[in-house]
Amino acid sequence: MANVSVSNARKNYGAFKAIKGVSVDIGDGEFVILVGPSGCGKSTLLRMIAGLEGITDGEIRIGKHVVNELAPKDRDIAMVFQNYALYPHMTVAQNMGFSLRLKRMPKTDIAARVDRAARILGLESLLERYPKQLSGGQRQRVAMGRAIVRDPAVFLFDEPLSNLDAKLRVQMRSEIKELHQRLKTTTIYVTHDQIEAMTMADKIVVMRDGRIEQSGSPLDLYDRPKNLFVAGFIGSPAMNFIKGHMTPDGFRTEHGAVLPAGFKPANADIYGIRPEHLLLDPEGIEVDIVVLEPTGSETFVIARLGEQTLSCVFRERISLNPGDTLRVSPITSAIHLFDEKGDRIVPGNSH
Ligand code: ATP
Repeated sequence: MANVSVSNARKNYGAFKAIKGVSVDIGDGEFVILVGPSGCGKSTLLRMIAGLEGITDGEIRIGKHVVNELAPKDRDIAMVFQNYALYPHMTVAQNMGFSLRLKRMPKTDIAARVDRAARILGLESLLERYPKQLSGGQRQRVAMGRAIVRDPAVFLFDEPLSNLDAKLRVQMRSEIKELHQRLKTTTIYVTHDQIEAMTMADKIVVMRDGRIEQSGSPLDLYDRPKNLFVAGFIGSPAMNFIKGHMTPDGFRTEHGAVLPAGFKPANADIYGIRPEHLLLDPEGIEVDIVVLEPTGSETFVIARLGEQTLSCVFRERISLNPGDTLRVSPITSAIHLFDEKGDRIVPGNSH
């Protein structure tokens, strides 16, 4: 096991700056997820840590060693790719043991490591099968098995679940999390899926445009996003953003509605409220229902407040129809206010 430290890393492809000075510390045994929209540089950063991409500037350390110039095979890492990259002509056992055979490890040791990984991943009965005889989830497990047998200091995962259907993704998500709890190997995991990040990570690093926007624990980012970008990226359905300005009575929207606010900074330009923080309230603000989606456990409602669209998630079942009205109130302690630059205003930096 090892910690990973990235200091002021940069990556240029010709004139294009893909990574623009990124620093992040990943503790020994930590599960860190790099998340962000397509093209933000998360895969590039992971590949720089893996040694699959050179680094234009800065320093990457794994444990005590600066690894900038080390070949991937000498970095004590194992990477699991999106497409699994299994060898079709090898059985599951041969796929898992392949890297150890290349290292000329004795056959009995390879067999012991493959058996242990197969037990951890529930693959014991599939060891003699070929990849084409496996389901997507089983192939994913073999790809992880191939990483586990190497007993590396760091696991690197690049969107490992994106080829799986929705149900299997949820199942594999818990399996990977459980695996990490058991092995406690330092893990860096790339995804564009914020739910994967929220549910699995000890620490999330949100990237945009080659830079880190914010890093912290999942709930830290959820409760205290630094700016509009993080607030809108973390959470599903996404936070509602409403333009307007603060008055002594509350936040006055561009369309004249007044929304309650516990804290009333004069520089508030945008009012943010998560869909689950709008509650049904007979005394609340009247909104028009546009779409109503009962899921059984919850009811999703798209509603209009003047010209503003609001998404709401209620625990209750609602027997109303599009065109009907509802009354809702925000939980005032869960309101987020942003200034005109898009930074979240916290008591202390407001004016
Ligand atoms: P995605 O989720 O779509 O994979 P990402 O955040 O992982 O996105 P990267 O693959 O890291 O994004 O790419 C970051 C940026 O660098 C993109 O704009 C991409 O076009 C660019 N890029 C990546 N590899 C190269 C390359 N070999 N040459 C030039 N530009 C590249």
